[in-house]
Amino acid sequence: MEKVLVLLHTVDGELPAAAMETLGLAQRLGAAYELGVIGAGAAAAAQRVSGGAGKCFAVEGEAFSVSRYATDAAACEAVIRASGAPVVLAPDTLRFHRCLPGVAERLGAAVDTHVVAFTPEGAVERWFYRQRIQAELKRTERPWIVLVEPGSQPAAETSAGAAPEVLEVSCETRTSVEGFSTPLAGEQTIRPDAPLLFVAGAGWTKKQKDGAVHVEEAAQLILDFVRKTQCSLGSSKSLVDLTSEGQPVLPFLTHLHQVGQTGSSPRHRKGLATCCHGEEPHVVGWRFIQERRAVNLDPNCGWTRGKADVVYVADAFEVMRELLKLL
Ligand SMILES: Cc1cc2nc3c(=O)[nH]c(=O)nc-3n(C[C@H](O)[C@H](O)[C@H](O)COP(=O)(O)OP(=O)(O)OC[C@H]3O[C@@H](n4cnc5c(N)ncnc54)[C@H](O)[C@@H]3O)c2cc1C
Repeated sequence: MEKVLVLLHTVDGELPAAAMETLGLAQRLGAAYELGVIGAGAAAAAQRVSGGAGKCFAVEGEAFSVSRYATDAAACEAVIRASGAPVVLAPDTLRFHRCLPGVAERLGAAVDTHVVAFTPEGAVERWFYRQRIQAELKRTERPWIVLVEPGSQPAAETSAGAAPEVLEVSCETRTSVEGFSTPLAGEQTIRPDAPLLFVAGAGWTKKQKDGAVHVEEAAQLILDFVRKTQCSLGSSKSLVDLTSEGQPVLPFLTHLHQVGQTGSSPRHRKGLATCCHGEEPHVVGWRFIQERRAVNLDPNCGWTRGKADVVYVADAFEVMRELLKLL
């Protein structure tokens, strides 16, 4: 295996989960690897995990503490050139997904995104066509920049090591970062790094056994659970579509929450589906959920047909009330 550069960035001075996963992949490859970290507090963050790495580089300073194409691209280019490693592994975070294809262009390098495995034979694996086809690719071009899908790898075992060489990078930019604004009204409930995905289905808004709908209680139960467990919240298509159909809705759900064929395929260790029928176009989005459980009143729902590990045939309102008491 050729020499690898593990290229990471910090978030508020710390290395995020996706960075530790990419480092874990490099360690398991068994190849000699170097480490490069950019961002706020990059040198200290690099030193905390540099045990086992060969050379180690950092780019930090005010200009590089925020995510911005021009400065990120300049920092990554400098680290890749300083290392000279033919293979660069980097986490496929929003920050790197935006700048590394441009860096590849500057270096005459090849780049692949959404990679979920790197074989010892030097091939990468990724999914195509909305997670239906898995392909194995090899490339002859070098450098080869490989963006590793967050959630696809176990995290690295790390130890502190040598202090990095801090590279001086200068970069002209016309863009000043003023802050972030989020398109979602209300609180953040999509948490890609959470161990648990909680999915709400349209059943939460349907008439219940007393003949009435209980959307307010449903909203309270779901939000209490999400806040208490800090899990990530997902939804079925039917539930998020209700907004446009003028039916009772859960106001905190948007199309960004939709899991499935025309939604997302998130990666979490566990998933719990509630009031969701488990139809194929929804469950196809559960491909990367390792342990699946569902709560449904209907013993013949889709989950019971081999799509979940455990199905509780029960009233989700009652289950969630009890669960919240335990929490
Ligand atoms: C081209 C195409 C693409 C699609 N893409 C997607 C996609 O990306 N994502 C997606 O989700 N869907 C997608 N769909 C739609 C999908 O086929 C289903 O229609 C949808 O997932 C159904 O949502 P649901 O299970 O929440 O609702 P429903 O089918 O209405 O099921 C509600 C369930 O709630 C249960 N329930 C009700 N009350 C309770 C209670 N108190 N306790 C427990 N259970 C209760 C009921 O038994 C029922 O099973 C797609 C469809 C097509 C044709």
